[in-house]
Amino acid sequence: MAKPINGMIPPGGWHYFQGDVRLDSWSLPELYKVVQNYRAENALPSGDVEGDVNEQICGRHPHYCHGVDNLTINVVSINPSTAVEELMNDIQTWAKNLLGSNKPYSLVDDAEAARRARICLHCPKNANWRGGCGPCINSTDRLCASVRQARDIADTPILGGCHILRHDNRSAVFLEKDLFNAKAELPSECWIK
Ligand code: SF4
Repeated sequence: MAKPINGMIPPGGWHYFQGDVRLDSWSLPELYKVVQNYRAENALPSGDVEGDVNEQICGRHPHYCHGVDNLTINVVSINPSTAVEELMNDIQTWAKNLLGSNKPYSLVDDAEAARRARICLHCPKNANWRGGCGPCINSTDRLCASVRQARDIADTPILGGCHILRHDNRSAVFLEKDLFNAKAELPSECWIK
């Protein structure tokens, strides 16, 4: 299981994004407590605080963590029997490749993400990828949340995956454009063109 290295403070300090709220602390153990308290005070499911914090930090900064290889190996995937499952598996691979890459990438602001999300929402290539195996959907969702550093805005939770580029649109709309293949055969209205 990937775990942040205690002595290595990640860029920006020890912090965690609960939705669009940033929670900060001066140490990793204290950050767990801050997240736990925040969830309790806001009537959110307590969940697996340590696992969520570790996964988010290690997703952003894998070289600040022990056991990052396991982060990718532990992902549940299935032999696809439908187009939906095939897209989900491809999205897992896309997310794992991004998280496993040492190349840093940045995210765009909410206004730009909202513009892109509106385009994807009306695009015929925006396809559902949540079907079949529950644990597979959950693990893919968690990976994708790490990719977009847990960002979300109004339209993004209802986005699916891109049938052409095989990524999660909910996450992709937050990423800088040069991470995508703009030369693929995309609809003329696509925001990546
Ligand atoms: S082709 Fe472009 S606009 Fe359409 S779903 Fe894919 S990324 Fe979104």
